[in-house]
Amino acid sequence: MNVFRFAPSPNGYLHLGHALSALLNADMARGLSGRLLLRIEDIDAARCRPEFEAAIYEDLAWLGIAWEQPVRRQSAHLADYRAALAKLEALGLVYPSFESRTEMAQLVAQRDANYPWPRDPDGVPHYPGAGKSISAAERTRRMAAEPYALRLDLDAALVRVGALTWSEDGTTIPADPAAWGDVVLARKETPTSYHLSVVVDDALQGITHVVRGRDLYPATSVHRLLQTLLGLPALVYRHHRLLLDTQGNKLAKSTRSTGLRELRAQGVTPAEIRHQVGLDTGLD
Ligand code: GLU
Repeated sequence: MNVFRFAPSPNGYLHLGHALSALLNADMARGLSGRLLLRIEDIDAARCRPEFEAAIYEDLAWLGIAWEQPVRRQSAHLADYRAALAKLEALGLVYPSFESRTEMAQLVAQRDANYPWPRDPDGVPHYPGAGKSISAAERTRRMAAEPYALRLDLDAALVRVGALTWSEDGTTIPADPAAWGDVVLARKETPTSYHLSVVVDDALQGITHVVRGRDLYPATSVHRLLQTLLGLPALVYRHHRLLLDTQGNKLAKSTRSTGLRELRAQGVTPAEIRHQVGLDTGLD
């Protein structure tokens, strides 16, 4: 059975880019007689709001998209992410980092002064701190006394896996997890991270096809690494084009002119939305 998912974060209202993603998932699921699941990615408690979640259901229903119940809400499944983290810890692949954002920015500036310090594909500097090299005793002492994030020891992880690839549009794509450095697996304020929870959920929900925006293409390298380390199945990926605004920027949840609610209020129909996002509608 082919299983697709649309996985928005309720930290703003959906826009035309989300409509493209959701409609593509629905079309592909229908085309392959598959299932479509909806997942609410709400681990970031500071930014996610119930009204945005309610709006997601409303906007998707208005677009004519049907999804299965129950909807998986990530905030209700923290134990699943903790269990995956424990597996990685048991493999010796996880270490804590204690630096604040300011301390890390200072360390990166010092490193940059000598030689450009590497950035991940999102532009975030690789971890510059000392978390990996402090003694076991100091680590234990500080973990009892200070907040910390948990990171993947990428070098140690790469030793455990061979060359990684993923399948996209019938092509085999080489994965490059090293580009991400020691990614965060659990944040100081949240006991998981986007990368960890997405990989765990895709496996637990039996997802076979991941259809999402091109902005997440580089993240697939980390997802393949985590899937392999955790013994989870490989999936088929499709990263679709991104819709851009008139300045050529990626659409933002805060831009009202491309928000589905605003367009609906202006009298735009779901069929016109399909047309606007470039899907075949019969209107062409
Ligand atoms: N929750 C992510 C977002 O809103 C999408 C995650 C995914 O499709 O893997 O951008």
